[in-house]
Amino acid sequence: MQHTPSDRKSGFWRIALVACTLWSAGAAHALSVFACEPEWAALVRQLAPAADVRSATHARQDPHHIEARPGLIAQLRRADLAVCTGAGMEAGWLPTLQQRAGNARVQDGAPGMFFASEQVALIDPRPSAGGSPFEGDVHAAGNPHVHLDPRRLLQVAAALGKRLEQVDPAGAEGYRARTATFQADWSARIAQWERRAAPLRGLRVAAQHSTFAYLWRWLGIEQVADLEPKPGVPPTPGHLQKLLDATRGTPPRAVVVAAYHDVRGAQWLAQQLGAPAKVLQLPSTVTEEAPADMLAGLYDQLIEQLLGSAR
Ligand SMILES: [Zn+2]
Repeated sequence: MQHTPSDRKSGFWRIALVACTLWSAGAAHALSVFACEPEWAALVRQLAPAADVRSATHARQDPHHIEARPGLIAQLRRADLAVCTGAGMEAGWLPTLQQRAGNARVQDGAPGMFFASEQVALIDPRPSAGGSPFEGDVHAAGNPHVHLDPRRLLQVAAALGKRLEQVDPAGAEGYRARTATFQADWSARIAQWERRAAPLRGLRVAAQHSTFAYLWRWLGIEQVADLEPKPGVPPTPGHLQKLLDATRGTPPRAVVVAAYHDVRGAQWLAQQLGAPAKVLQLPSTVTEEAPADMLAGLYDQLIEQLLGSAR
């Protein structure tokens, strides 16, 4: 049988097509994960190192309020799994992204939509709060900033490991093994952190928002004032003056803001209170710089900075 040039040509394309198909099957389409916040991206990377993980926000952004940009919609559209905080944390932007992405895998209730706050008990629920945007970030369902309690993070990791097995059964064995390794390592670290942070018990701080409330509770730190006049509303001169009057007698050791907060209100209050009160700007999540570019490093850094202010 004679092959014409056109036969040879189509044969080439057929082989190329088969090769491409085999290549893409062999590359086994890395699991695509959309994380709402950097802490969940970091956790997914530890449990699923082969996954393609993107975080919608970074440490210098207020995760309560971001814009539903087209790039984020495209990322959510191709995601196999979305890992977010929930409990109203992303109420201002995630529903818009889910709607515009039109990806059934990551709609609420689908296995591919994982909310960390649903895996743990939340502190400070305010069922009577209306939760309208004009009332600020009230967090009526409870404080969603659960990743700053390492014991709750352990519970989230266990649930996330199971969810990864569910959405990607082919990798189940690996997810199970890595989750177990993470749990063992993390439990040992919790014990070490608790020993290291023992001097922080009873430390009094003023802070902006309920961002660090779980951390305070875990370490026995007392937040005596909130720089926000209303949840999610930046400090006003009038409110700061009130806090100054209320805390002047027994000033807090530190005035704490997150890395994404404007530091000026805290600076004013610390200055007015005088020594020993000082401003402490803490990372509220995993950052781009070491050591806080990993979850364990974030906790190391938080404890070291707090010990520094307690000295
Ligand atoms: Zn909040």
